[in-house]
Amino acid sequence: MKVYIMGSDQRAVRCARVSFGKDEKVDPSRDKKLLRFLFRNRHASPFEHNIVAFESRKEEWVELLKKVENPTVQLYYSGGYIWMNLRNVINCYELLPEEVISELKRAFPTIWRIVETKGELTDEELEDLPYTTDRVFLEEKIETSSGWVGLVDRLELGTEMDYYTFVVECPLFVARQWMRHRFGSYNEISRRYTSYDIKFYIPKVLRKQAKTNKQASTDEPISEPLQSEFLKEIRKLVGEALSFYNRMVEGEVAKELARGVLPQFMKTRFYWTVPRISLDNFLTLRTHEGAQKEIRELAEAIKDMVGYKGTDKRNRL
Ligand SMILES: Cc1cc2nc3c(=O)[nH]c(=O)nc-3n(C[C@H](O)[C@H](O)[C@H](O)COP(=O)(O)OP(=O)(O)OC[C@H]3O[C@@H](n4cnc5c(N)ncnc54)[C@H](O)[C@@H]3O)c2cc1C
Repeated sequence: MKVYIMGSDQRAVRCARVSFGKDEKVDPSRDKKLLRFLFRNRHASPFEHNIVAFESRKEEWVELLKKVENPTVQLYYSGGYIWMNLRNVINCYELLPEEVISELKRAFPTIWRIVETKGELTDEELEDLPYTTDRVFLEEKIETSSGWVGLVDRLELGTEMDYYTFVVECPLFVARQWMRHRFGSYNEISRRYTSYDIKFYIPKVLRKQAKTNKQASTDEPISEPLQSEFLKEIRKLVGEALSFYNRMVEGEVAKELARGVLPQFMKTRFYWTVPRISLDNFLTLRTHEGAQKEIRELAEAIKDMVGYKGTDKRNRL
């Protein structure tokens, strides 16, 4: 049986550490303790960024579905493979074929041991475990006017459920649009935890409101002198908001409250693991001229990296 895996022990750590903005750091001793903490405390979403696909007939998939009692477990079938993320695997692994389990143990040795022992490992036992890391931080990165997108990994078997993981840095209002795309997994920096590396998008040019489409803009800049005046005012307001935020944090105000004064131009960072059918849907909707320019540029960057395959055309709606 062919078994394909995307991810590593470290992948779950990266997606957890993005909460603190420290997703680039690798320290196996601390990483392993973090994995144990995540498992014990049911911080489950970082595990969703690891993916397994294994060869199967459709009938075997249906048989497996019949055995799964837990309604949250999602098992997809596409192109002759069953597709699952590691969170789903952990919730039903006793039902999976032995060949799949042995590949999972090889790909995620630390995570697997933590699961098997229900998180009851000492620090010394953790220290002795093998730990798998990502080959590179990013395969490719493209900058846009408001942020950047990086390709972390992909598992391409030519199906509608091929998987991709991206890291995105963009303004808050772009991230809000992005996260309406529900078919996929997200982990994002948390401004409850960290005041680390706060950055803002300041547009180079202020575009005019579109006349025909109530939610869109045109490419036409607003005229001078208002253009320069407003841009200056934006920089001033953003600078003042950040100073006030820093003063509040220094004055022991909780970050979860102090962040309320930070404007929507603030950048956020998130990991996005998405199947091809949902990615193509995103590309169709967000490269369309009706989408906001800032998200359109990021969608175009993703299209340049991994292409568009048209799998979303299967959906009537
Ligand atoms: C130009 C533009 C303007 C928009 N304006 C607004 C707005 O004003 N307000 C607003 O709230 N949103 C707005 N949206 C967001 C939009 O309504 C969708 O939520 C977003 O585009 C995600 O699309 P999706 O649901 O197809 O994707 P996903 O959530 O990723 O879903 C992917 C696919 O999975 C299936 N699916 C997922 N969840 C369900 C479900 N619960 N039931 C049935 N099928 C499901 C569908 O086939 C869907 O196409 C806008 C989007 C665009 C592109």
